[in-house]
Amino acid sequence: MPTRATKRGDDRTPLDVDCDVLICGASFAGLTVARELAGSPARPRVLVVDRYEIGERQTSACAVPGPWLELLGLTDAALQSFDEIVAHTADRSYSWALPEPFVTFDYRRLCRLLADQGDFLFETAKVEGLGPRPAVPGGPMTVITDRGPVRAPLVVDALGWRRVLAPESEDAIQPPDAYMSRGLEVHPEGRSDELALYLNDRYVPDGYSWSFPAGDEVRVGVGSFDPHHHVKDPTLRLVQDLRREPDGFQGNWIPHRLRSATGGGVFFVGDSAGHCLPLTAEGIRPAFHFGIALGRELRDVVEGRQTREQALRRYAGISAQKHPAYRWLLRLQRLVGRVIPHHRTLELALRATSPPRVGRRAWSAYLRTLSASTWTADDPEGRRPFSRRS
Ligand SMILES: Cc1cc2nc3c(=O)[nH]c(=O)nc-3n(C[C@H](O)[C@H](O)[C@H](O)COP(=O)(O)OP(=O)(O)OC[C@H]3O[C@@H](n4cnc5c(N)ncnc54)[C@H](O)[C@@H]3O)c2cc1C
Repeated sequence: MPTRATKRGDDRTPLDVDCDVLICGASFAGLTVARELAGSPARPRVLVVDRYEIGERQTSACAVPGPWLELLGLTDAALQSFDEIVAHTADRSYSWALPEPFVTFDYRRLCRLLADQGDFLFETAKVEGLGPRPAVPGGPMTVITDRGPVRAPLVVDALGWRRVLAPESEDAIQPPDAYMSRGLEVHPEGRSDELALYLNDRYVPDGYSWSFPAGDEVRVGVGSFDPHHHVKDPTLRLVQDLRREPDGFQGNWIPHRLRSATGGGVFFVGDSAGHCLPLTAEGIRPAFHFGIALGRELRDVVEGRQTREQALRRYAGISAQKHPAYRWLLRLQRLVGRVIPHHRTLELALRATSPPRVGRRAWSAYLRTLSASTWTADDPEGRRPFSRRS
């Protein structure tokens, strides 16, 4: 169980601490890394910081392939499960049978369940950047927060697209010119049994829109692969078309290209490493996947099986291994922008992929890029899915 030390108002005392592992960001990626460090006989002092309390600010529509919730013991957060996705164009609807269900879940509950599997101290603090370089190579690094400095030899940036701890040498390309998509959604009350996508240039010509039911609410949103395309008006248009109320706006940038998973001695994971998948903007599964991979590398460091430098190299390799798959998905993403405005081509493509056997195959290939079974197959302990050579 994590020890919560959240401070508000006058209790927001200065923070000036040392720890063994500092995890910045307490959402999907950061909490998964923390989970993997729990129970280590080395009993590392793990500190997780986030500007909000755990689970306070939902960061997505929260749909994920079901096996990941089972793998991580998070099924109690599930709200609804879907065996198919219905794709609506301007003229017709098609359904894709899924090889494994997609599940929508409660963000706050999932974060709490994930955090409860960790063993860490938690502080609310805004991470501002890296401090001066360590005096000794490989020595503790300093991270500056709005409550003071925190020092740790192992530092993880799981802060989402801003990549706050990027080394100064890195080109800081900011949106809308960065390789990012835009996503915005609302959460009106209501119920539905259909996990729906809208491929319709009435809402967005280069992207897609969605309606994801989650218990008593429906998460309705629009994502544009072209970051220059604003999505607020299209979101309102879609909500109106679906005869729902535009309640509870929530949006963000979504990186759609892999970035370097290490830099300046920092480990990046989840959106900060560009792990969100292009084409679908599915980022929770990658945050879990690379969070587990990173957590296990860090565990090997705190337990003395490898050095920090070795872990940096290995983890960078693990992330880079997926480059070909990400490149393919990015190519397909670029096609989407060309196809959606051409209604006839779009209808042909959907008709070709909608027979259950074809749809299931296509989705299986997509889901295999990051599969929950990676962590259970080949290794009875589920601890070493990547070879030392990777
Ligand atoms: C509208 C929308 C809908 C989406 N729907 C889905 C979906 O249904 N399924 C899916 O798989 N993906 C979805 N995504 C993508 C998914 O949300 C992200 O890829 C995923 O959240 C990445 O997880 P993460 O842990 O890397 O980062 P995040 O979830 O973004 O978490 C970053 C954490 O860092 C904290 N933080 C940020 N900056 C600071 C700072 N300076 N100091 C301290 N703390 C900070 C934040 O408070 C947050 O807790 C969606 C994205 C959007 C925008």
